[in-house]
Amino acid sequence: MDLTLSKEDRDLQAHARAFTEQVLFPHELANEESGGGLPPETLAALHRAVLDWRLNAINQAREDGGQGYSVFQQALINEELGKATGCLWDVVWNPAYSLRFGSAEQKRDYLRPSCRGERRDAFAITEPGAGSDPRMVRTKAMRRNGRYYLSGEKWFVTAGDVASIGGAVLVTLLVAAAASYAPARRILRQSPGTTLRGA
Ligand SMILES: Cc1cc2nc3c(=O)[nH]c(=O)nc-3n(C[C@H](O)[C@H](O)[C@H](O)COP(=O)(O)OP(=O)(O)OC[C@H]3O[C@@H](n4cnc5c(N)ncnc54)[C@H](O)[C@@H]3O)c2cc1C
Repeated sequence: MDLTLSKEDRDLQAHARAFTEQVLFPHELANEESGGGLPPETLAALHRAVLDWRLNAINQAREDGGQGYSVFQQALINEELGKATGCLWDVVWNPAYSLRFGSAEQKRDYLRPSCRGERRDAFAITEPGAGSDPRMVRTKAMRRNGRYYLSGEKWFVTAGDVASIGGAVLVTLLVAAAASYAPARRILRQSPGTTLRGA
């Protein structure tokens, strides 16, 4: 088995390394000394840099506005981004994988803006009583009048506090019916009834 990286992959790795060293590393100290968190103007500059370096949505297809990299290529990139301390890798956004399964309309409204970094999404699976074991999940999806209404509590939701625009929260939820252990259903919802605690 030949485990040598191709030239394309080595170039990609070098690109991600240069981004990490030149764009992320300079903010490590400020991020550390602030207790975690950068000023809005710095975040805006980082946002522009992610787009300029074409590292936005590396996990999404090109036709949806992503970079179309393979899982292996994503690993190469994330290995480099992960060298930055203080979770600075998180300024490089990866819209939830499940968003790619939306309808054309959902992709227009949620996936493409997420790929452009105009909105952040969060991916919420875990609950206070259900971590690794999806059979303990208690969140319910009730279908009424052609719409799903979700009821439940999620926690440990990375970016749950920032996945919000104008009061509307974009959260991708996997809801598993606990009694039947049915396959998880993907539900995308822009919910005015969602409340956030903690953060
Ligand atoms: C920083 C951070 C960010 C997170 N972001 C998100 C997010 O964005 N969205 C989201 O949905 N979740 C998120 N999570 C939650 C994360 O996915 C859960 O922590 C994870 O699913 C484990 O659940 P738990 O912590 O409740 O551990 P538990 O499920 O209570 O497990 C505790 C320990 O028991 C072990 N264990 C569990 N079940 C078994 C078993 N049947 N047999 C043997 N061993 C077992 C586990 O391996 C683990 O070591 C985040 C967590 C952290 C810490």
